[in-house]
Amino acid sequence: MKKIQNYIDGILQDATCDAVLEVYNPATGKQYATAPDSREEDVDLAVQAAKKAFPAWSATSNEERHDILMRISQGIDDKLEELALAESIDNGKPLWLAKSVDIPRASSNFRFFATAIMQFSSDSHEMNGYAINYTLRKPLGVVACISPWNLPLYLFSWKIAPALAAGNTVVAKPSEITPMTAYLLSKICIDAGLPAGVLNIVHGLGQHTGAVMSSHPQIKAISFTGSTKVGADIASKAAPSFKKYSLEMGGKNPNIIFADCDYDRMLKTTIRSSFANQGQICLCGSKIFVQKSLYEKFKKDFVSRVSTMKVGDPLDPDTKVGAVVSKPHFDKVMYYINLAKDEGGKILAGGKSVQPKGHENGWYIEPTIIEGLNNDCRTNQEEIFGPVVTIMPFDTEEEILEIANNSTYGLSTTLWTQDLSRAHRMAAKIESGIVWINTWLLRDLRTPFGGMKNSGVGREGGYEALRFFTETTNVCIKY
Ligand code: NAD
Repeated sequence: MKKIQNYIDGILQDATCDAVLEVYNPATGKQYATAPDSREEDVDLAVQAAKKAFPAWSATSNEERHDILMRISQGIDDKLEELALAESIDNGKPLWLAKSVDIPRASSNFRFFATAIMQFSSDSHEMNGYAINYTLRKPLGVVACISPWNLPLYLFSWKIAPALAAGNTVVAKPSEITPMTAYLLSKICIDAGLPAGVLNIVHGLGQHTGAVMSSHPQIKAISFTGSTKVGADIASKAAPSFKKYSLEMGGKNPNIIFADCDYDRMLKTTIRSSFANQGQICLCGSKIFVQKSLYEKFKKDFVSRVSTMKVGDPLDPDTKVGAVVSKPHFDKVMYYINLAKDEGGKILAGGKSVQPKGHENGWYIEPTIIEGLNNDCRTNQEEIFGPVVTIMPFDTEEEILEIANNSTYGLSTTLWTQDLSRAHRMAAKIESGIVWINTWLLRDLRTPFGGMKNSGVGREGGYEALRFFTETTNVCIKY
């Protein structure tokens, strides 16, 4: 049994209480590790360590922080195989996916913000020859980062890297469901020479460890990625002490396919945007709207391609769909498949759990396509976050715009059309933080990332993240 520890004040250590969490391998359904279920005392130790480390860390030059973050990035690259295997075992995602996407992206998050801080600048405002203002940007102090289980190291590092680059010290909590790569990152940070207390990683349940972080009076800001429900809880706990917060939350994203699209590219990408990472990506296009004249052809091809996707052992290179992350999540996704049937949906592909040979106790679900539902039903309004999509026909641009915006969420939208004017028109009117046209999940780390409505508050990525993790002082000088 592997043992995960907290990383506080530069030292790997157990929680002060004896409570431990069971960590499972979704591919086998078996426990393979334990993690501390940290409480108030542990969060407090981490905050005190971060507070102690802040004066020296915030006084380092951009170059010094750049160099350390680059060493962490290199440490991740050097351990690509080990980290990818750990991520796959912890999360159930195909090993090839962890190796080609999750871990390389975690490394590039550190590399990106190491270099971004070297270019980051602040504004000055000249006042018609009689005064000048300039804006100082200062790190906030101790900040918290809380991340989910779907892209564990990828999203954990997406928050930590800009926070550290901007000169803050950090108390971070990965999801208790997938804590392993965050633990391995602790060791990489030690090897990279990150000074003690600059980054503290505290493991535990959301309602124990996370909730204490949200209300801790000495934490100045919280960057959170996870569900909308927990985001609301964090906002309410953070408000009384006036913390800044950035909330990246759930989505229910439309994938809108016009008849004039580049069909082959659309089909290939739509399979990915529907089922990548078992559909457990906040950006997955889980509601697929297809213009009527293309609907039947798309349905036939999509169903036939998806029905051949191999579901099974995440370590098998041929696996396209691995295991979903946990038993409760498996139950949630299966509940929604049954709900879709109750709401009148017809299952065109999938719809069942799978027991692959040798992995009969793992949590596997067939990639599932449902038709016959309208946009207003619960299946189409609530986030399922699994390998489940619905397909629906539409007629006109005006009609689909209204349908697409009829959602409490507003994270991402994908549009497939060769009509440039229509693409621009729709992109401007769609209520979502991200619009992909003729592509999906193509990321430039400089761009603002986040959602509208119940999908988010604030933006991360590029300078947006560095702005979030800094406080300004405007200095006005009269000539
Ligand atoms: P979750 O909200 O259950 O948990 C996320 C993190 O918050 C975990 O570390 C958890 O321990 C912690 N947490 C739970 N309760 C808490 C509390 N009361 N106070 C403080 N922290 C608490 O989310 P999840 O199930 O891990 O992840 C799936 C969700 O994340 C989906 O809704 C998905 O859409 C969303 N997500 C959003 C984005 C984005 O960029 N918008 C990216 C990935 C995932």
